[in-house]
Amino acid sequence: MDLRDTCRSLWMTRSALRVQAELKKWRRRIRWLATESRLGYCPLCEHAARFVDTSDNHRESPICLGCGSVPRQRALVRWLRARFPSLRDVRIHESSPSLCTHQLFSGQSSRYQASYYWPGLANRVVGDFQNVDLGAQPFADSGLDLVVTLDVLEHVPDPMVALREIERTLRSGGLHVFTVPRVAHCETRRRARLTANGFEHLQRPEYHCDPISRQGTLVVTDWGNDLEARIASDTSSTCVAEWVCDPSMGIHTPIEIFTMQKP
Ligand SMILES: [Zn+2]
Repeated sequence: MDLRDTCRSLWMTRSALRVQAELKKWRRRIRWLATESRLGYCPLCEHAARFVDTSDNHRESPICLGCGSVPRQRALVRWLRARFPSLRDVRIHESSPSLCTHQLFSGQSSRYQASYYWPGLANRVVGDFQNVDLGAQPFADSGLDLVVTLDVLEHVPDPMVALREIERTLRSGGLHVFTVPRVAHCETRRRARLTANGFEHLQRPEYHCDPISRQGTLVVTDWGNDLEARIASDTSSTCVAEWVCDPSMGIHTPIEIFTMQKP
């Protein structure tokens, strides 16, 4: 087989694979619509919604067809709605929001601030978002009622510095409500360490999906059973976890919602 034949064969293989992937995608979409969607109530859409399974990951699936929310986001919003009947005057900072939580909080609170972190970008405001390093935040002391981080703390280079900064920005009694994937039956461990030359990997690199990065975001910390104790010993705040499960909201497996409260 000469070079031209090899190239043609490779091109045909790639085309066949692409067609196969497209067919698979459409088969999956038809299956969602035909059999696997469920009706329920979405606390972000605030009305009846249809939920569709997209994977076996119970924190990320099913998604709401209305707003695109996933179970961990609905669990956190369900938790918040039980404690805050209105968010109108609540001073909120959300770090690295998803589109659905950003839309919800910005529509319900006039005092909502959202941030992402683009290292090396000096400008403090990018579109609707502030450029905020959680480890060195521009916010004043005790100026916030509520800080929300959804699956952010596993990616922060030094999470305890970030947690102490979050605590500094909260008023007395203020809450940091958050989710992180927790590794059962293990103590918290570092997967990577930030050095002057970038990240030094202590474990095989693992990345999570990130709306602002094609590569995804590196998982720096695997949080374990000692999460609450670590936060209590490294900050002045208390930290508790509550399980939220509500199949009518498309939350079929309990999701842990963590609350850190400043004294
Ligand atoms: Zn929804």
